[in-house]
Amino acid sequence: MHRRNTLKTVRLVISAALFSLAIYIGTSNPLYTFILIILSLILLPYPDHRYGIILRLFAAVLTGIYAYFIWLPQYSSPYSFENNLTVHFIDTGQSESELVVLPDGKIMLIDAGDFDDGPVVTAYLKKLNITRIDYLIGTHPHMDHIGGMYDIFDHFDVQNVYLGYYPENIYIENPWALESFNAKSRAEGRKVTAAEEGTVIAETDEYKAAVLSPSRTLESDDLNQYSAIIKVSFGKTAFLFTGDAGRAAESTILDRDLKADVLKVGHHGSYDATSDEFLDEVDPDYAVILVGWHNEYGLPNVNVLTRLHKRAETYRTDYHGTIIIESDGNRIVSVTKEREYHGQDAQTSAPVSAAG
Ligand SMILES: [Zn+2]
Repeated sequence: MHRRNTLKTVRLVISAALFSLAIYIGTSNPLYTFILIILSLILLPYPDHRYGIILRLFAAVLTGIYAYFIWLPQYSSPYSFENNLTVHFIDTGQSESELVVLPDGKIMLIDAGDFDDGPVVTAYLKKLNITRIDYLIGTHPHMDHIGGMYDIFDHFDVQNVYLGYYPENIYIENPWALESFNAKSRAEGRKVTAAEEGTVIAETDEYKAAVLSPSRTLESDDLNQYSAIIKVSFGKTAFLFTGDAGRAAESTILDRDLKADVLKVGHHGSYDATSDEFLDEVDPDYAVILVGWHNEYGLPNVNVLTRLHKRAETYRTDYHGTIIIESDGNRIVSVTKEREYHGQDAQTSAPVSAAG
């Protein structure tokens, strides 16, 4: 009897130790936690009861159900557990890429940075366990927006492909990126849909992603103006993505519902974008500028910054790194920056450049 009791005590201690270890590991590695809990249950010295084995199996099954439905989704899902809308303004330097995780977990990628940023965007998405991109959107065929797309096609299961509408005869600086984008898309068996005024990329009861511009009536010889301007609305909140669209494009949509909580500032904060009239309509609480550290263009423009600072909390990828903004449908619930920046805006003391 004595030996049996000692054995029981040892089993109890080991079981408790394993259980404590499981709690300690918690959600950081659900698989290990799960295995440890199962082992701890098996070792638990139940009283010699004829239903002991059934009790143990029952506990194991309960743990399994808990792990499968509560822990694993949290661990493996690229999106917030609360079914929020999360937008990642990825720091790719002097180029643009925005990852939109829709409330139902669908993935939208707007632009993929420059040629050498492709692997950077790919690594960022892989880190979030993303394998499939439901909506891949090139705002316009400039290198710093679609240059990295080739790497996205190479690494992800791409479903629907969009590219901002542009007139056939327009001058395209670097046709290589466009040709590669079209060829990769074709190779995947996906046709490239023109994103233009009226295009609805995705719509559910909860959210909508719609293209506001360009329209076929827009007249400009500047490819930037043909950037797809996309509004993603979720409940009472909205995000506005502008690509490199400038004042010419902005002026054509001032009568539309532009109101958004978060504005991705047009053309890297250049002076030719973000007019006062446009800002009045968007009326953002948060503004994000995707721009490279000490870039050769002197962006963002100081006048644009001054206007933005007056009305919105302004973030920049050159200062803050990747910026993540999350909405629960009622309000913006979190703004996460990769790093803090305590300095002054570098350009505020510099002479005002008219071109930007
Ligand atoms: Zn650009």
